[in-house]
Amino acid sequence: MKKITSIITVCVLLSSTGYIYAENNQQDLNNKLSENREEQGTLDKQIGSLDSKIAEIEKNIESSNDEINKLDEEVEDTKAEIQELEGKISENEEALGKRLKAINSNYSMGFVKVILSSSSLSDFFNNIYIVKQVVDQDKVLLKELDVNKSEIETKEKQLEDKKVKQEELKMALEKDNQMIESDKAELEGLKDKLTKEEDDLESEISKLAAEAAAKLAAEKAAQDAQNSQNSQNNNETGAVISSGSWPVPGYSRVSSPYGYRNHPILNRQEFHTGIDIPAPQGTPVTSFDDGKVIFSGVKGGYGNTIMIQHDDGKVTLYAHNSALTASVGDRVQKGQVVAKIGSTGMSTGPHLHFEIRINGSHTNPMNYL
Ligand SMILES: [Zn+2]
Repeated sequence: MKKITSIITVCVLLSSTGYIYAENNQQDLNNKLSENREEQGTLDKQIGSLDSKIAEIEKNIESSNDEINKLDEEVEDTKAEIQELEGKISENEEALGKRLKAINSNYSMGFVKVILSSSSLSDFFNNIYIVKQVVDQDKVLLKELDVNKSEIETKEKQLEDKKVKQEELKMALEKDNQMIESDKAELEGLKDKLTKEEDDLESEISKLAAEAAAKLAAEKAAQDAQNSQNSQNNNETGAVISSGSWPVPGYSRVSSPYGYRNHPILNRQEFHTGIDIPAPQGTPVTSFDDGKVIFSGVKGGYGNTIMIQHDDGKVTLYAHNSALTASVGDRVQKGQVVAKIGSTGMSTGPHLHFEIRINGSHTNPMNYL
């Protein structure tokens, strides 16, 4: 039976160490997880602002396209106008050519033939005069048409220039858009990575939590076994469990008892390894019993901590203090001030976290107070 008990004690010791390690690791993972989520939030904001930039550029490209289409239509209209004018010009040139030819042939016919073909001499001169007037009018019209044509050609050239500029603008916008799209793709890649990391962290945390819960259950079973063994031993020897003194004189309320509870900071079900006694900052913290200080300093989430080894082998622990008034190696007496109440380490307000450890395992302090 004694052998079994010592094996259980070793197991409890090992699992306690494992538990502390697991808790630190879990906190580390929780920190990483919240960092990850913060980074994801920042990326979401950046992607959102790129999206609105892209939407704006796409709107500009669309209006640029509209402008180009409008210019295309105008160029087409102008071309049609030019074609029409060219048709008129060639028609007029043709008519003018015919008339000039007619006049030349009339002149070459010679005087007699003109006389003969005209009913009278005055009729002949009249004919010549009318032809000449028509020819002059044709020439004026042709000149006007040429002027019109060159004006419209200038307009066409201006429209073409405008279109080229508009197309350049559109190309620049498309280039901008491409760059922003590639930035966005890069950010989205980063976010994918973070999401994957988040999943990994979450599964690792839940794995650790499950492991910790299993260890705590084993620890509790071992503790129960040891407790029954202790009471059996006590019954055999007739020894009485010694009572220590309350570690925060004048403040008797326990805000959080020993056992399973929802952790106030980590917000998950956990085993509370001691009792919490709230008191104002600076209130004296006193030694549970006579003993020797074996630790005085900062101890992780415990903050400023004192540990005292008592003469019967029990170790008491006093955590979250604002000041420590005993040093390692000091001999202290029952009720002697060893620290001042504070809220250092993982704590939500000034209180003493008080633990009793027997053979390295924490036990319910209320059984000894
Ligand atoms: Zn506590």
